[in-house]
Amino acid sequence: MPFSSGEQELIGLDERGDRSIIGFVGIGSNLGDPLANCVDAINRVDSSRGIRVVRRSSFYHTEPFGNREQDWFVNAVVEIRTILTPGELLHTLQSVETAMGRVRGGEKWAPRSIDLDILFYGQHLVNDPGLAIPHPELHKRRFVLIPLNEIAPYVIHPAFGVSIKGLLSRIRDESLVKIISEESSQTFGTL
Ligand code: ADP
Ligand code: MG
Repeated sequence: MPFSSGEQELIGLDERGDRSIIGFVGIGSNLGDPLANCVDAINRVDSSRGIRVVRRSSFYHTEPFGNREQDWFVNAVVEIRTILTPGELLHTLQSVETAMGRVRGGEKWAPRSIDLDILFYGQHLVNDPGLAIPHPELHKRRFVLIPLNEIAPYVIHPAFGVSIKGLLSRIRDESLVKIISEESSQTFGTL
């Protein structure tokens, strides 16, 4: 049965006639101007075909995880709606990383101009060679869980059956995560 466009908006149907999926993407940068890089990346993701950013967390200054000899990161998490498949979404995020000058193939934990990770894709579980969803490290990292908890505390991790709030209360990671005041991040506009 055809829907009017108003109804389509309401129940999240897209031009393919599918329901769109709610996802969460982690954003991070510690090269150049990290806050500006994160804002730029969010705008680029929002302008990408088949993806809309519907909410973002505050920005946070975070202590580097793994290799402590590098500069602090800026991290945030955004909620998206997408009609892309998980593979298409990864491809789009990697194109944004490349367009922003990210060089791949460096060592793990190396400084990066931008890092875009798929945290959740609805309640789907993906375990492909190049793509794991939920992101396999998200429950171990305060720099992901703190911003995620700000915008999605009651979202359930589909592999563990535990909410973000619950994961955060159990975490071992003690690295520092400091909110950047809305005043300073508002220079970059709000979403
Ligand atoms: P990391 O984010 O772990 O620091 P990279 O950004 O360099 O490292 O990602 C390395 C690879 O991780 C990517 O080439 C991608 O194929 C893979 N990958 C697996 N699962 C995900 C995911 N959920 N989100 C983003 N990349 C992922
Ligand atoms: Mg990544």
